[in-house]
Amino acid sequence: MLKIEHLKKRYKTGPWVLKDINFQVPKGEIVGLIGPSGAGKSTLIRCINRLIDPSEGQIYLQDICLSELAPKQIREQRRHIGMIFQEYALVERLSVMENVLSGRLGYLPFWRSFLRRYPQHDIENAFEYLERVSLIEHANKRADELSGGRCQRVGIARALAQEPQLLLVDEPTASLDPKTSRQIMRLIQDICREKGLPAIINIHDVPLAMQFMDRIIGLQGGEIVFDGKPEQLTEEVLTRIYGDEDWHPEKQQDEEVA
Ligand code: ADP
Repeated sequence: MLKIEHLKKRYKTGPWVLKDINFQVPKGEIVGLIGPSGAGKSTLIRCINRLIDPSEGQIYLQDICLSELAPKQIREQRRHIGMIFQEYALVERLSVMENVLSGRLGYLPFWRSFLRRYPQHDIENAFEYLERVSLIEHANKRADELSGGRCQRVGIARALAQEPQLLLVDEPTASLDPKTSRQIMRLIQDICREKGLPAIINIHDVPLAMQFMDRIIGLQGGEIVFDGKPEQLTEEVLTRIYGDEDWHPEKQQDEEVA
């Protein structure tokens, strides 16, 4: 369970970019974070994984208050947060297996992580995660030999290797074609259900969000302007969230062609 209470953020002397954010994500719930560029989505994600410091408010994962941790404790807690990135963030010259195992680095003593000497049970678990994302036969390939969809599967397996309590996912399908995007979203959805993992997914593709999310949070100007079921996302609500920015996928494609 993730709980965010009265979270506020301003960068140095700038304006408030998150203004009193409050919500909870129970086990297994997949929340899509939508909103126009500059709404504060990345800032919110970065506050949760403590890449940046919140200015005010509390963030709890299970019962640990992430927003009040000292730097060493932040590193320890961050390993419980699985991150999945738009551009996969794999080490391209390493094998698929080594990339998955790197999800364990936060758990290893320094000498083991320095030498990349993983305990046997980590290796056994990594095979299991590769099996789960249907990549077992690619375990020994270099990451840069894989297609985008497979790279994202490695990213998912690496996040699983962390044995996370929360998944934070940043635009997971932005670099993928529509069919692969749906496959990746379905995989993330299935895994969250199987493991009872809560997830927050920063997602720009509204139809995809409506298909795969349990709940949508709409951010606008640093405030939550919508928090509800995907089926409640009417045109009126989307206009409230996005203002003048266009959220129609067909129109975006037309503009790109033009
Ligand atoms: P989104 O992910 O929704 O596009 P961001 O969280 O990136 O929004 O940005 C929210 C606001 O915070 C924007 O006005 C942006 O310019 C500002 N911002 C983001 N990162 C920084 C930073 N490192 N320093 C100062 N302002 C920032």
